Amino acid sequence: MLKGKIFCKTKIVATIGPASWDKNILKDMITQGMDVARINASFADFDELKRVSQNIREISPRVGIMLDTMGHKIRVTGFNEERKLIEKEKIIVVPDKGENSNQNLDNNHIAITYPTLHQDISRNAHILLDDGLVSLKVIDIKGEEILCEVVQGGILRPKKTVNIPNTNLKFPSLSKKDKLDIKYAVENGFDFISASFIRDIHDIAMVRKLMGKTHIKLIAKIEDREGVDNFDQILPLVDGVMVARGDMGVELPLEDVPVIQKQIIFKCRSVGKPVIVATQMLESMRKSVRPTRAEVSDVANAVMDGCDALMLSAETSTGEFPVEAVKTMNKIAIKVEDVLRPQRVQGYTQVSIETDELCNCIFDLANSIYLKGVIVLSQSGKTSQSLARHRLTIPIWEIGNDIVRIRQNSLLRGVKGFYINDLPDDRDKAVLKSVECVYSHGELDLNDKIAIISGSSIKNRSYNSILEIVNVSDIVGS
Ligand code: PGA
Ligand code: MN
Repeated sequence: MLKGKIFCKTKIVATIGPASWDKNILKDMITQGMDVARINASFADFDELKRVSQNIREISPRVGIMLDTMGHKIRVTGFNEERKLIEKEKIIVVPDKGENSNQNLDNNHIAITYPTLHQDISRNAHILLDDGLVSLKVIDIKGEEILCEVVQGGILRPKKTVNIPNTNLKFPSLSKKDKLDIKYAVENGFDFISASFIRDIHDIAMVRKLMGKTHIKLIAKIEDREGVDNFDQILPLVDGVMVARGDMGVELPLEDVPVIQKQIIFKCRSVGKPVIVATQMLESMRKSVRPTRAEVSDVANAVMDGCDALMLSAETSTGEFPVEAVKTMNKIAIKVEDVLRPQRVQGYTQVSIETDELCNCIFDLANSIYLKGVIVLSQSGKTSQSLARHRLTIPIWEIGNDIVRIRQNSLLRGVKGFYINDLPDDRDKAVLKSVECVYSHGELDLNDKIAIISGSSIKNRSYNSILEIVNVSDIVGS
């Protein structure tokens, strides 16, 4: 870690791929502020999951590892060279019959990897290709053949994605690959699973069932109309949420996305669950060392909206400047956080009402008396969630003897985890050790005043909560 380096309070999730899986690059990304490494299962087999997660663990036990499931991504197939589709041209969409089918398609056909679309789709529906860059309108359906007219022409490259907005596709919640990947993540100590295309509570139930009894946190990726419409039912059943703007911007009108982003962030904060804003945040940095003004503004605004974490996708997985992208994001967030004021959030989280109320008190105290920061000592880790949602301008130091929890709570905005192996059971002794730990990391001076909240006390697991204000000098060196 660079001496004196300042990290933003907002957390950074970075996708790891060919551009970044080298150990030295990973190290640099962590040094520049990456908190969680995401591996996108759409592009990774088991060998890669293993290699990348092992590399990360060897470099840092503190960085969270997230497996992002492939989900039901439909792709175009049936051609190998890029094709030009011209406005008003007629195209027939047929189901992909698999690699060994000898399916011979002429220039009027494209195949897609969703076999029953002809049953689910109706006339006048739109089929969007490659993130909506090319779009088709359904004119007629004859057996398996869907006759379409090109509405928006353009170049179509092989294997690009297909989105069909406002059509309820009858995908199973989990594909065969998803099931294997989720099992792999559970068995190999991943910290988060971000599940793609969560549409409703049924999808959540399927993932949870497969995960079994595990500590892994489940993040629901909200990416389509159903996910947005059912969000209020989904939120109570998951540990966090990703605003997956990539697919959302194709599945829903693009102009709806900024408002949905704000609404989802608001709802997540009210229950203290972490929320990640994802996709195209610094997109131009895939090829350029400097982002556009609009991208800088987008990152800044997501921080102002109050998200827990910002995500980098292609910027760090395949882009030319993975380390610079993390560095840039960190710099932008710091600038914004400098001028933001804490915002008190109403509502109750998963801790006891008493602990939620004590966290509200800390919000008030941080305004009325000068507190340098807050130490959180809790059995479950949920006190940090209750406190972090207010987006205090002072740091939250979470002390724990469970490195997995420290990694998982590293997704929470403003929470800095400290691992103490031999944290005493006795609360007073644990407080002493915790203050010494934060002090020894250079975060405190002797004349600082801090708050200490211990949710359920370390020894006594009942839901008693204690809030204490102490002078550092009374503890350190006494
Ligand atoms: P993806 O998910 O990158 O796996 O598609 C994120 C998104 O859709 O924004
Ligand atoms: Mn997506």
